Amino acid sequence: MAIARLLPAPHLPAHKCPDHRSENTMRAEVVAVGTELLLGQIVDTNSSWIGEQLALAGIDCHFQIKVGDNLGRIVGSIRLGLERSEAVILCGGLGPTQDDITREAIAEVLGVRLVRDETVVERIRAMFASRNRPMAPSNLRQADVPEGASLIEQMPGTAPGLICPVGEKVIYAVPGVPHEMRTMMQGTILPDLRRRAGLPSVIRSRVLRTWGQTESGLADLLAERIRELDALGSPTLAFQASGIEGIKVRITAKAADEAGAQAILDEEEARLWPLIGAWVFGRDEQTMEAVVVERLRARGLTLGLVETVSGGLLASRLSATGGAADVLAGAFVAGRAEALERLLDLTGSSEVAETTVGAMAEGARRLTGADVGLASAGLLEADGATGRPAGLVLLGVAMPDGTLVREVRLPGDRTRIREYGVISLLDLLRRRLDEMA
Ligand code: ATP
Ligand code: MG
Repeated sequence: MAIARLLPAPHLPAHKCPDHRSENTMRAEVVAVGTELLLGQIVDTNSSWIGEQLALAGIDCHFQIKVGDNLGRIVGSIRLGLERSEAVILCGGLGPTQDDITREAIAEVLGVRLVRDETVVERIRAMFASRNRPMAPSNLRQADVPEGASLIEQMPGTAPGLICPVGEKVIYAVPGVPHEMRTMMQGTILPDLRRRAGLPSVIRSRVLRTWGQTESGLADLLAERIRELDALGSPTLAFQASGIEGIKVRITAKAADEAGAQAILDEEEARLWPLIGAWVFGRDEQTMEAVVVERLRARGLTLGLVETVSGGLLASRLSATGGAADVLAGAFVAGRAEALERLLDLTGSSEVAETTVGAMAEGARRLTGADVGLASAGLLEADGATGRPAGLVLLGVAMPDGTLVREVRLPGDRTRIREYGVISLLDLLRRRLDEMA
């Protein structure tokens, strides 16, 4: 296997190795190609994402380069990368236009020709045909492959990704389009790098998304388990505070295959559940609103809203969620107190008071004919007259069996108060629904 020849020969004492590298050191660097990256017209989020994934995969990444669409400079960047790392990951410049020259640059570094790959030609033709779009001849440039390179199996767009061995080292090339790049990284490059490094090739993580507990609070609850895992080395746990997305607890497992990794994740999640389950609202990409919509749908319940402080944000987030049409009966956004009074037949509704918010939530049910009513009211700015602080928000949940009101103090500016208020209200409803179960 290629990696064997990368490692120090067994008869050499360790201190004679080129740079004292340990056995499974594998360094990869990223070369992001595109003049628009240098001009600041687009942000190089690809390199950030690749950096994160390499770190998770246990592959060292010491350099990330950005280079414009210039043949000599791309060639220079690849050569520099190959001098100091075992792998170079190029992203961008695989498109069909004249300034997409990553293929040419690789061919020059390798000292080989570009050859047109007929299977890729057919795939590109078929892709255009299936979308009913005419294909420009220049699109076939994307089927030009440096001699000796192999193709990355995943091909979500019209540009194939490339694997180009250079002696014991390797150059990978992926398109700049983020989702195409990610698919190829996950499907081929990361496993290939780990195989080359002699590491178990599958790394999977699962995120438990929490709301209502602080990062240090979660760390305390998990302290003993974290100590145990530190001693074991795997799986690992990490916290990520993510603003209105809550605090994420990420479990990462390494295994020889997919099934093994999933088994480790399942087992670890089951261990964590008794410790922090009370704060976990979802997994991986699940948002709070998606979880709430799913819970309501499962119970056949509909939802009505009256918003003041959040100004329609709650309705907006809910209605952007798949399945919301089955659940969201209606929403009212009130500005001035008189409008709210007229809407709900309330008096004194400009007050931030428990009774008002409870009545608003009940009004939301009544006005929309929904099973559940939600309401929030509060202060985006401190109230000089009463001395109440900005961020004082009242949340109301009205259900057939009664109405619940909570007062919360939310940090931050207007935007954050509104966003935190919305998520807190949804979380309150989520908990009520779980109690019903
Ligand atoms: P394709 O083969 O699909 O045409 P490509 O390999 O030529 O893609 P580019 O033309 O460089 O890639 O970029 C395509 C799109 O991908 C750009 O419009 C840009 O928005 C995005 N993109 C490119 N590079 C990056 C990057 N480093 N970070 C984030 N987005 C990027
Ligand atoms: Mg391009």
